[in-house]
Amino acid sequence: MFSKVLIANRGEIALRVIRACKELGVSTVAVHSTADSDAMHVRMADESVCIGPPSGTDSYLSIPAIIAACEITGAEAIHPGYGFLSENAEFVQIVEEHGLKFIGPSAEHIRMMGDKITAKQTMIDLGVPCVPGSDGGVPTIEEAHKVADEMGFPVIVKATAGGGGRGMKLAKTKADLDEAFSTARAESKSAFGNDEVYIEKYLTLPRHIEVQVFGNGKGRAIHLGERDCSLQRRHQKVFEEAPGPSITPELREKIGTTCADAVAKIGYEGAGTIEFLYENDEFYFIEMNTRLQVEHPVTEAIFGVDLVKQQLRVAAGQEMTLKQENLSIKGHAIEVRINAEKLPNFTPCPGKISMYHAPGGLGVRMDSALYDGYSIPPYYDSLIGKLIVTGLDREGALARLKRSLDELIIDGIDTTVPLFHALLQEEAIQTGDYDIHWLEKWLETQTFE
Ligand code: ADP
Repeated sequence: MFSKVLIANRGEIALRVIRACKELGVSTVAVHSTADSDAMHVRMADESVCIGPPSGTDSYLSIPAIIAACEITGAEAIHPGYGFLSENAEFVQIVEEHGLKFIGPSAEHIRMMGDKITAKQTMIDLGVPCVPGSDGGVPTIEEAHKVADEMGFPVIVKATAGGGGRGMKLAKTKADLDEAFSTARAESKSAFGNDEVYIEKYLTLPRHIEVQVFGNGKGRAIHLGERDCSLQRRHQKVFEEAPGPSITPELREKIGTTCADAVAKIGYEGAGTIEFLYENDEFYFIEMNTRLQVEHPVTEAIFGVDLVKQQLRVAAGQEMTLKQENLSIKGHAIEVRINAEKLPNFTPCPGKISMYHAPGGLGVRMDSALYDGYSIPPYYDSLIGKLIVTGLDREGALARLKRSLDELIIDGIDTTVPLFHALLQEEAIQTGDYDIHWLEKWLETQTFE
């Protein structure tokens, strides 16, 4: 095992990684911007290094500053968390060139999955079901019309370099295609410096189902079932659960095995998530995330597995202890993402926390870096906490979620907590009968007053 690991992140995920390191007896190094000197991850780590001014570009995204922090402290490995440099292949290469270990997959796998056309082609070759669409990139509007006419409308134009919902445009009919094609290209060019796009059939009422996989980097991989993350606003997940309410054990076994076999075949190392749209009992691959996801705790809760410890073990060259035959689901877990945002418009709302009280009791996990008197800086993502509850079944988890939300106190700022109180009143949430558009439609009817 490593003796010292640097965590190139902040907030709740930095704490999450520090906790796993501590349980494995690994010393920890936090990095932080000048805006985060009083942050909880800095207090909880054994050592800390200031790596720059508040702006993420000059601190948490500064590769030279992070490499220098490793050299100063003697850290041997870097855990990237999610976001920031977690899916940056160039960073991984530089880390390795400095004789350090990146805790995650190889630069090659990150690159392969970061380019959506290559990712899709790789998955097709590996036997993973994909959304019907163009055969690779679509360079001209004439070709776009040809592909879309053959496939039938609606279609979605997607940037190969896309992410976070950007560079993606819907064409409901043929008349929309010219604009969808040119705006998707322009948006992708300005956001990612790459205007290559491809076309997919637009699925009208799918659920978002993603499969957690884990590989040892030497040709063995397992899956840890699925998460349903259909409740999204602007392509951002807000409520996630596992197992998926619509997924039978047979379907889970089938798609899980397909995914595990695929990542085993490419020799993938560490944690990864294969995302699908799911409609009429069919799965359609959309993308693979080559990192730990925000919502990984719901999987940990039902499988009793610490994914971060597994990442650390495999990265340190130890045997992967997870075996498919030993993995089974116990209960049902739900995560809600608590953001420092004011409803109904989700306006970012940083500021000082006058009082914080986390819920507790059986089956409750609160992953947050908040504390009494903490000032949330305005420079970063507005996620300030994840409340994860586990019950014997879905009904039990929902009851526990309500009880925990009642216990939670975050005073001093506005948060998205009222959203979850309101959601729990809804029949669709109680029954689990929702698709990826349900939340946005429902939000139009809510005032949160
Ligand atoms: P990003 O990397 O930008 O998040 P994804 O490919 O993961 O892009 O897609 C994000 C979301 O966009 C999906 O969760 C889904 O809501 C919607 N979407 C993407 N592709 C399709 C499709 N073919 N049909 C319908 N919705 C889609």
